[in-house]
Amino acid sequence: TLKMIYYITPTYPRPEQVPELTRLAHTLMHVPRIHWIVADDQPICSDLVSSVLKRTGLPYTHISSPKPFIYKSSNFPRGVANRRVALNWLQEHVTEGVLYFGDDDNTVDLQLFDELRNTKKVSMFPVGLIGDYGVSSPIVKEGKVVGFFDSWPAARTFPVDMAGFAVNIGFLKETANMPFIAGHEEDRFLVSLDLQIDDIEPLADNCTKILVWHTKTVKHKKPTLKININKLGSISKYENF
Ligand code: UDP
Ligand code: MN
Repeated sequence: TLKMIYYITPTYPRPEQVPELTRLAHTLMHVPRIHWIVADDQPICSDLVSSVLKRTGLPYTHISSPKPFIYKSSNFPRGVANRRVALNWLQEHVTEGVLYFGDDDNTVDLQLFDELRNTKKVSMFPVGLIGDYGVSSPIVKEGKVVGFFDSWPAARTFPVDMAGFAVNIGFLKETANMPFIAGHEEDRFLVSLDLQIDDIEPLADNCTKILVWHTKTVKHKKPTLKININKLGSISKYENF
């Protein structure tokens, strides 16, 4: 049988949340043997997210952990508390399969799931539409990863994006951890697994193809239109603003 993929998605409330999750759901609904772990940045799991999940028919876990109160600044670590709680859940409940972190606004080619499903330790692949170079990718020579191409090296051992790697759950150590340090979450997580560069399995035709993109949706302003609910009764049902 096919190995299970555990897809961890942090998410938070805003007008774009339901459309992002709907689009991602409609990708994941094409993937066999996938379990979606949706990690809500909220004190309790939101009904709105839950209603999207129920309709997918996918096996899923909806779990929540809000960001600590101190993170209000513009460059705060995004989606860390919720990814951490998802990781804890996985470590407590799952011993086999492949872990992949995918944000709610990314775009994924179905081919990537076929490839990362066979990850033995840690696999890596290019991510498109990211940083100043427009792509972040491992550099591959004779089938081995020998370095990294990323516009923000920042003294990281593994300068990669969250969506640029997958991990075999058997390779997760008890020490696995993700810090609240903006920009260093991926690197510190991979270092906490005691990953060595020789362990990395390059995918996507030796990292020559882009199968996942770090897409971003334009932020919408809060609607300013004042609605007369008596005249337009149904409008009050659009609760996802
Ligand atoms: N996120 C979150 N809480 C926040 C901000 C972001 O859980 O306060 C999630 C978001 O839904 C996404 C991930 O963390 O899945 C990365 O956030 P975003 O896409 O905004 O960051 P970027 O892609 O620009 O790094
Ligand atoms: Mn994003």
